[in-house]
Amino acid sequence: MNQVIYLDNAATTRTAPEVVEAMLPYFSELYGNPSSIYEFAGKSKEAIMASRAKIAEILGAQTNEIYFTAGGSEADNWALKAAFEAYSKKGNHIITTKIEHHAILHTCEYLEKTRGARVTYLDVDENGIVRMDELEKAITPETILISVMFANNEIGSIQPIKEIGRIAREHNILFHTDAVQAFCQVPINVDECGIDMLSSSAHKINGPKGIGFLYIRKGVKNRSFVHGGGQERKRRAGTENVPGIVGYGAAAQRAWKSMKKRTEEEAALRDYMIQRILTEIPYVRLNGDKERRLPNNVNVSFQFVEGESLLLMLDTYGICASSGSACTSGSLDPSHVLLAIGLPHEIAHGSLRMTLSEETTREEIDFTVDKLKEIVQNLRNMSPLYEDFIKSKR
Ligand SMILES: *Cc1c(COP(=O)(O)O)cnc(C)c1O
Repeated sequence: MNQVIYLDNAATTRTAPEVVEAMLPYFSELYGNPSSIYEFAGKSKEAIMASRAKIAEILGAQTNEIYFTAGGSEADNWALKAAFEAYSKKGNHIITTKIEHHAILHTCEYLEKTRGARVTYLDVDENGIVRMDELEKAITPETILISVMFANNEIGSIQPIKEIGRIAREHNILFHTDAVQAFCQVPINVDECGIDMLSSSAHKINGPKGIGFLYIRKGVKNRSFVHGGGQERKRRAGTENVPGIVGYGAAAQRAWKSMKKRTEEEAALRDYMIQRILTEIPYVRLNGDKERRLPNNVNVSFQFVEGESLLLMLDTYGICASSGSACTSGSLDPSHVLLAIGLPHEIAHGSLRMTLSEETTREEIDFTVDKLKEIVQNLRNMSPLYEDFIKSKR
């Protein structure tokens, strides 16, 4: 067994060795600036074009609709801020959901506070899915943008993206989706889904960190996000991250080719893990939709247990997972996503997210569930709440 059991692939993934291999020449031998005109630099330019073409093909997009960014957060910021500015003559209303990534939520809050945006944050149902009737009801003549994530990073729920795209089209409203967790995990065709803008990030699919892209449909008005040189069709200035872009192309190609088989295997292991947890540990619930769910996502809440304590105990066995609190911000507030699906604070606090990869083995899952059983029992034995609960049952 590996020294580390890595079950936090929604946070980031290992850069695949063949991806690193593909990137290396662009640090050392082929370091030319893609904007320079001599042949040597042309190699860098060609590499960027090849990556762009690969990614466009996967989405059923055109090559010149892919704009590289420094990751998913930047792509989300760009999509919202630039679209809001470009369409401000038409209206100031944005529709999004309560379960978006903070790159969307905090950008919306910024637009509300400083730019006069009006934002509707849609509720989701108990499985974390947006209701289409509520979406339609939220639309006003001022609505310029609908931004709904393709799949949720915490509970794995996959939204009815085609439906949303259809509704957006019918009302002539732009549709953006944060597809960071979905790209190369779920088949996506931007035309079939009516997507106008789509954000993505390499490090969630075994590519390098700090590189992503924003797909912008041809004809969508979108201002320059970074001003400077003429890179990325004058919309995102700055010398290109050539190794990163090459790495993203390689990672996307790899993940796309393996998608069907890989996600089937991951989903089987995911369901095995969920099944074991739900049947072998009492007072536990599964968060997120059972069927419309990312193939690698397990998110469960244990009653009478603190997620943070669980994480620390799992860590002593080398198991890397994530809890349901916004631990990145150093706060212990329960996750906005778990609250949005209606979990009471005390249940949300006992949540654990485990996200598998193609490298995850059944032995690792068995070991993790075995340890989890022990840890949950030990923590409960120390909990006064649990003691009261057991007494009250007698
Ligand atoms: C990871 C993630 C992001 C942010 O991507 P970065 O490349 O880390 O900036 C945005 N949205 C979702 C859904 C994510 O999972």
